[in-house]
Amino acid sequence: VNFGDELVDPDEKTRRVGGVFSSVARNYDLMNDLMSGGMHRLWKNRFVAKVKPRAGEQILDMAGGTGDIAFRMAAKGANVTVSDINPDMLAVGMERAKKQGIGGLIWQVENAEKLTFADASFDAYTIAFGIRNVTDIPAALREAHRVLKRGGRFYVLEFSTSEWPGFGELYDRYSEHLIPRIGKTVAKDEESYRYLVESIRRFPKMGEFRKMIEQAGFRSTSVEPILGGLVAIHGGWKI
Ligand code: SAM
Repeated sequence: VNFGDELVDPDEKTRRVGGVFSSVARNYDLMNDLMSGGMHRLWKNRFVAKVKPRAGEQILDMAGGTGDIAFRMAAKGANVTVSDINPDMLAVGMERAKKQGIGGLIWQVENAEKLTFADASFDAYTIAFGIRNVTDIPAALREAHRVLKRGGRFYVLEFSTSEWPGFGELYDRYSEHLIPRIGKTVAKDEESYRYLVESIRRFPKMGEFRKMIEQAGFRSTSVEPILGGLVAIHGGWKI
């Protein structure tokens, strides 16, 4: 499998992705604002508006990191479990929750490829800017399907490829040159941000990823492009 431009074995990739997120955890929220010009907040708002979390629902926010999606869903009254493979990201999230006075969340270290939850545990499963970092994506999609109840919904927020003429190239140039530099200056970590850019470039295009979701068993799948598909919200149902 790929780690950036390098070929490594799957365990090595998982280990290195772990290293990337342990390294970026402390600066993660600030870097998101800098890199996206604050736009990630709008994308996350749009995403949660689509998920429509309801009071009392059980929702799993996978690769939940520092809690951005989970906080928004908990505000609607949903019972949210935040899971991530990286304890450092969750630790930053727990601190943030405490500071902001957000309670009632369950924080649990989990690998998206092999969840410890029982079948049919959740009403909804969300994963935001996480799936592209997972080593075995089909395995993670199958696990998402397994832990959802019948009638449960599945939503993915992820970078994709913009279909607006010229815009994709423009973004590629921005991300290739500027993001590692911002990473170097602000987070003192150029390599991790180089990996993050590479992982965006390598992620399957919208149509292809939608097919992968269908192959995992989801039905009535959908995709909503944002900025022509620079970012996309994929959805599906377990029926
Ligand atoms: N969802 C958060 C957000 O939108 O701000 C965090 C996104 S962050 C870019 C990606 C997260 O995916 C990291 O916290 C990383 O630890 C997590 N991750 C990577 N591989 C994973 C895996 N196999 N299982 C669970 N989480 C994983």
